[in-house]
Amino acid sequence: KDAGFPYPKYLKDFDLSFCQSITKKQLNQLSELTWIDGLYNLILSGPPGVGKTHLAIALAHHACEEGYKASYATMQSLMQCLRTSEIDRRSRAKMNRIQKSNLLVIDEVGYLPIAPTEGNLFFQLISELQEQTSIIITTNKGFEEWAEFLDDAALATAILDRLSYRCDRIQMAGKSYRLENRKTFLEEG
Ligand code: ADP
Ligand code: MG
Repeated sequence: KDAGFPYPKYLKDFDLSFCQSITKKQLNQLSELTWIDGLYNLILSGPPGVGKTHLAIALAHHACEEGYKASYATMQSLMQCLRTSEIDRRSRAKMNRIQKSNLLVIDEVGYLPIAPTEGNLFFQLISELQEQTSIIITTNKGFEEWAEFLDDAALATAILDRLSYRCDRIQMAGKSYRLENRKTFLEEG
């Protein structure tokens, strides 16, 4: 409850025949959630529309059903919370929830550049969470591009080092589900 999901998504609706980047076996292993007990992280990378957010929310929702505590934030909202947690009660509540979560989804990492002070706060958070919380990151950026959006090569290396220690990476290539299943409204003719 109150994980902060922007909308519900379910594993049962995730179509593996559309997403060729992940096998049935891998999805089953992820669904077993033992990786959360083992404090593994999951990095889902790829272009827009390939199902990164769907899979992240569906796994987090499934984890909640199985009694884990999960939280969701976009990178942008997480940075906002980190910046204002000293002065804003809601931000502090969100950060408290995150600190107590077994699983944190950080969605849309790399879409927007990160200010230097925010990058440092992000590093601190990742460091604090590494022995208590699994993290799912969705990103459109390869590891080599993190230095760029963080605008700090050393910081990017330090963050990726911590995230990667116990980690699986799924490169979700392929077509956009949105574009392939585009819905239209106008009648023809
Ligand atoms: P991304 O986060 O990679 O940009 P989303 O997860 O938001 O993409 O997916 C875009 C839309 O397409 C969502 O409505 C999502 O539910 C749907 N979608 C994407 N991949 C799949 C899939 N393999 N099976 C079912 N729905 C999918
Ligand atoms: Mg997304």
